[in-house]
Amino acid sequence: MRTDVVIVGAGAAGLLAAVAARRLGHQVLVIERGATLGGATSASDGHLWLPGNDLMGRNGIPSDTAEEALAYLDALARSDSAVMASRRAAFTRTAAVVARWLRTSKIGLEVVRSLPDCSPDVEGAKLQGRTLRTKPTAAKLDPEWAERLRAPAAAAPRSGLLATLRRPFRGGGELNSGGALVSELLRRALGSDVEIWLESPLTSLLLDGGAVRGVTVEREGAAVEVEAARGVLLACGGFETDQELRERYLPQPTSAAWTTGGGGEGAALRAGLQVEAAVAELDQAWWTPVMLADGVAHPLDVARVAPHGLIVDRAGDRYVNEAEPGGSAGRRMYEHNWGDRSVPSFLIVDNRHRKQYPLGPWAPGASPKAAIEAGDLFRAPTLDELAESLGVDRAGLLGSVVAFNQLAKRGKDTDFGRGESAWDRFFGDPLLRRNPCLGGVDRQPYWALRVYPGDAGTKGGLVIDQRSRVLRGDSTPVPGLWACGGSAASLFGDTEPGDGAALAAALVEAYRGVVDLSDQLERIDEALS
Ligand SMILES: Cc1cc2nc3c(=O)[nH]c(=O)nc-3n(C[C@H](O)[C@H](O)[C@H](O)COP(=O)(O)OP(=O)(O)OC[C@H]3O[C@@H](n4cnc5c(N)ncnc54)[C@H](O)[C@@H]3O)c2cc1C
Repeated sequence: MRTDVVIVGAGAAGLLAAVAARRLGHQVLVIERGATLGGATSASDGHLWLPGNDLMGRNGIPSDTAEEALAYLDALARSDSAVMASRRAAFTRTAAVVARWLRTSKIGLEVVRSLPDCSPDVEGAKLQGRTLRTKPTAAKLDPEWAERLRAPAAAAPRSGLLATLRRPFRGGGELNSGGALVSELLRRALGSDVEIWLESPLTSLLLDGGAVRGVTVEREGAAVEVEAARGVLLACGGFETDQELRERYLPQPTSAAWTTGGGGEGAALRAGLQVEAAVAELDQAWWTPVMLADGVAHPLDVARVAPHGLIVDRAGDRYVNEAEPGGSAGRRMYEHNWGDRSVPSFLIVDNRHRKQYPLGPWAPGASPKAAIEAGDLFRAPTLDELAESLGVDRAGLLGSVVAFNQLAKRGKDTDFGRGESAWDRFFGDPLLRRNPCLGGVDRQPYWALRVYPGDAGTKGGLVIDQRSRVLRGDSTPVPGLWACGGSAASLFGDTEPGDGAALAAALVEAYRGVVDLSDQLERIDEALS
């Protein structure tokens, strides 16, 4: 079979690339491994960190420029490589274009109000406006395709405590955030005659010398060769679900059970091997502390930030600002893990926390018997007994709680600065004026669960340039091959600039890749400069 463009993976990045490639006049085939589409995007909050977007001005938020966003990314960056610097510049120039592309495609976006960048005190940071999300929408698809949307995970969203508490009451079969984005992109893809093959994994690249001329796909038990006249875009996520690759590349210990992702199984890395592509950032992930319930990972974005709880290691000591962004909190768990101290750690909360805030998959007030019996959740009348059942040092835990309660009384965490940054406060309880993230842990019974350094996907992958072309070790591009999102080495390295950066980078890279394989990128970049 022959087509112009083959896109591997039907998450948001693959679907956006497919629609964009059709609009540029190409025949497009999307191949998707799963029986459903949407990948990690469907499970996600669908937040998009798109600096310079024009919704800021429309919402009365002080405007933003690509230069300010670049200054921010440069200040955070730990890599001074020329390729990364030009990728950062390309991202900040193109982010607003992608926001406009989504809006002119009539995909409703809204600003996530009051959500600051992850490092609000760094030069070029903004206190709100850069993070957008897709407005809730009904799936306006034929039933046959509506059934093919991957169901969103039952994860607690990261959109502020009050929003979280309101979210379950939004009924009417509406799709939220990540699911809404996927459904809207899918509708446009189908409406513009993009061909989509489900249950059709990429098995290898078709090569002509060093160039990629198509793919081999497993389809209905047969190996099908598809030639792609213009090129192949890898949008098939990272390697978060592959235990062997995790053990080879990520810090230890690690487990595929700790990912909340589920899009990528390492297909891009394997394809890259065939063309001797360079790889980078393989030890990095979009870390986020998680808990396990019935073997399924759930983020703790709300529970660890809310007042009346603290995180301790096996010695019972506090070692982290519980409210800091998931990326740095997850990294801290590994840095602190000498002598197996902090993987897992323990979230200890009192009964006020349990009554008022969600805890992983459990609604406020729930005390799920099955989870207690299974050892996923612990409850005890005293901290002493709780420490014993967790295997945590008793004196350590009691000392930490006493010290924590004194800090809470003063409303100031002089040990770790919890609740000091605008980022922390966004996720705290706005009803607590002095410090929305701090409250004493002193009401019986006490509750606890194990905390693991989970992730929302891996960050390592194929090295790409600012055109999203896959590069070899000598920095020359592999003809015919582009990559984006989790398939590519993250342009943010081990940093996390804002909520929605992963998905935004995936969309921007997908967009630039498709424009480049259409020989239109110079024209667009000239218009932007
Ligand atoms: C709970 C959760 C919340 C998150 N929230 C956010 C957020 O708010 N903002 C943000 O920026 N990021 C968030 N993330 C991360 C974000 O979802 C991902 O970075 C993003 O979805 C990546 O999009 P993608 O299109 O590159 O990959 P995916 O959406 O994962 O799509 C990849 C697709 O490729 C398919 N595939 C894999 N292998 C093959 C193969 N061999 N052949 C064919 N197809 C294949 C997969 O089945 C999948 O459908 C979150 C993640 C999780 C899990």
